[in-house]
Amino acid sequence: MVKKTSARAKNPRKIAKSVVDTIFWGVRGTIPTPSKQTRKYGGNTSCVEFRVNRGKDILSVALDAGSGLAAYGAEALARGQREYHIFLSHVHYDHIMGLTRFAPIFRRDCKVNFYGIAHPDHSLRDILRGFFQHPYFPIEYDALGANPNVVCHELHKGDVLKVGNIVICCQPLNHPQGSAAYRLEVPEENVSLVYATDHEHGTSVDADLIKFSKDAKLFIYDSTYHQKNYDKYKGWGHSTSQQGALIAKASNVEAFGIFHHDPAASDTDLEKISLPEAKKLFKRSFLCTEGKSLCLNTLLEDLGLQGK
Ligand SMILES: [Zn+2]
Ligand SMILES: [Zn+2]
Repeated sequence: MVKKTSARAKNPRKIAKSVVDTIFWGVRGTIPTPSKQTRKYGGNTSCVEFRVNRGKDILSVALDAGSGLAAYGAEALARGQREYHIFLSHVHYDHIMGLTRFAPIFRRDCKVNFYGIAHPDHSLRDILRGFFQHPYFPIEYDALGANPNVVCHELHKGDVLKVGNIVICCQPLNHPQGSAAYRLEVPEENVSLVYATDHEHGTSVDADLIKFSKDAKLFIYDSTYHQKNYDKYKGWGHSTSQQGALIAKASNVEAFGIFHHDPAASDTDLEKISLPEAKKLFKRSFLCTEGKSLCLNTLLEDLGLQGK
């Protein structure tokens, strides 16, 4: 269940034409991690929804298809959504494993659009065909219920595309086999989200990412590690909450969401190590939490970070 924050009820926006929400369906990195120690922040892997509510109309885009996608798909189907837009940062298993339980892709009445940065050797369609394949999965790609309405869109750096009134662009990141950050904006609402996961800091890409994230409302960043354990994992393609805070500060974002939590990190580790490391440099940092919905129009109120 998605937990609604209370700010919207307290502060109905009289002037906003639409209300833009970010909903965290999965915030963990690498592998789903259900346990008592991860209950508070959640164990499902990457899936974040960007949702534009305009009266009764809802326009929804999903960022990544980790195990959190299953609950996203079920909720969206139940409210009548039939066309889907899924932007993949990359296709490492933790970012696509939710497709095996993504109900809309098995239905004839649904259309599923996939977007991803073009891979030098394989088309996005071939990559997905390799995923939905015997003997790994009982239904092969061409037999998916939604086909022929499963459509793959390959993107390149600098491309700008529109899904309804959402403007989207991408930025390559530093990660084994590559990854991409996405920036989503609703210009008439002056809201923007940057989703940058599976990135290791320390190359010239950092400066590109700072430019790409300039003045965004919400910046979500790969914070798998922290300063105390990063050295052990150097070269694995991930970053720290401290680096995220530095990028957040340099790009002047409104708030920084610590994301892609290490499966080895307990709720206590996140609260006692990752969050304080980020807050020391950037006060408006918070831990992304599975099941939580944030309104981008009133982000700092929603987060309780006003005036910080
Ligand atoms: Zn990952
Ligand atoms: Zn990865």
